[in-house]
Amino acid sequence: MTQVEYARSLRWRPFINLLFIIDYLLFGNALWKRAQVVISSEPKGESRNLLFNRFLHFAMLTHRFGRNDDESVLYSNLKMKKIIADRTSKIDASGIRKVFALAAQLRDPINFSIGQPDFDVPEELKEEAIKAIREGFNKYSQTAGDSILIEKISELVKKELSPERSRRIGWKKPAVLVTSGVSGGLLLAFLALINPNDEVIIPDPYFVMYKHLVNMLGGKCVFVDSYPNFDLPAEKIAEAITNRTKMIILNSPCNPTGVVYSEKEIKNLAEIAAQKDVLILSDEIYEKFSYDGDCASIAKYYDKTLLLRGLSKAYAMTGWRLGYAAAPDSLREVIEQMTKIQQYTFVCAPTPFQKAAIAALDYDITNFVDTYRRKRDILYDGLKDKFKLIKPTGAFYAFVKAPDGLATSFVEKAIKNNVLIIPGNVFSEKDTHFRISYATSDEKIEQGVEILRQLA
Ligand code: PMP
Repeated sequence: MTQVEYARSLRWRPFINLLFIIDYLLFGNALWKRAQVVISSEPKGESRNLLFNRFLHFAMLTHRFGRNDDESVLYSNLKMKKIIADRTSKIDASGIRKVFALAAQLRDPINFSIGQPDFDVPEELKEEAIKAIREGFNKYSQTAGDSILIEKISELVKKELSPERSRRIGWKKPAVLVTSGVSGGLLLAFLALINPNDEVIIPDPYFVMYKHLVNMLGGKCVFVDSYPNFDLPAEKIAEAITNRTKMIILNSPCNPTGVVYSEKEIKNLAEIAAQKDVLILSDEIYEKFSYDGDCASIAKYYDKTLLLRGLSKAYAMTGWRLGYAAAPDSLREVIEQMTKIQQYTFVCAPTPFQKAAIAALDYDITNFVDTYRRKRDILYDGLKDKFKLIKPTGAFYAFVKAPDGLATSFVEKAIKNNVLIIPGNVFSEKDTHFRISYATSDEKIEQGVEILRQLA
């Protein structure tokens, strides 16, 4: 029973109390008489003892109809709510928690729920981290990050986003902040940018963190539906822009759909954003996982872009907590405010891993990407005739329509059959699809596909 359900159940309390009284009238008298016999040998304090017995009887009845253990916990949770800040109620983790609770009961499941690569950090990069620890890079770094790493990131984005002959000067002097993962970057960016009631436009389906962070800060999510093909809904985004719009969030390759937006779509959105002068936050954590051509970055076409990238997925170092935020010179103030907030929150990204990141940014992961392309093909070819799904072109997810369009019940069925998938309502205002992460062995993908086909 959730707290909400418990709160609802309180509506029945008057009715239950009436039952207490009826029960008391019917059976209470018998107990009363029995109590009189037992206590008659104690002339003194008789009335007090009788009263005590009545109380015991009432307590017994209350216990029968009263709170069970679950309710007691919930009751104390409700009391606990008084000391917990209101903003926590804006976050709902129940969807994912339900899946994980079901998953905990499974032995060796086919796990399609994990949002991280199944390969390990390449040995060379592990060695870099170990070397950094041995060499004593174990203290705080500067808030904005290790200066060599910052320089490296600046070079990288300069080269990519402002090529030699380009006249776009913005990215020639980028502002950079090393963050504790893209999650850290998102929190800092939202803290630096979102005022209560600011509107944030988010294509739906979306990465779960956006919604909850925006809500927690008192902002307002404006979801723009991208079903059924999950193309970038640029025209709908244009319609959704108001004078309250603070930013548009873009995530390509996209979690959970696995879609990489085309250059044409990106350019189109860049034009719309430029016309309305709206900031774009571009979450490009999966940029390296683009299987059928490069992933276009909107930062190349639109200067009012705050770029967030990470090392978690590309180098399988989700536990190292590394990412970066970069912006052209014109948005330097945003990066500076984010850095100021980092000073009082994360302090810095983990120092020895920042050292390893310098080497990671030069590390070629073509082999991993080729492997994931093959996994994508196994999954897509296995499901395409039984399910409605858009062929994923990036990240390591597929967003598949549930056979009856009811994702949660299909997910429950799949989990009962040992396949762990996540219902669409975790990533969307709809619950028609489910997310598969194919970051697992080919063998598991094949087994999972077979089971899902049987359930279709
Ligand atoms: N953005 C997206 C779209 C993601 O899928 C994730 C991780 N699942 C993140 C950001 C956060 O990643 P990290 O904090 O590990 O860099």
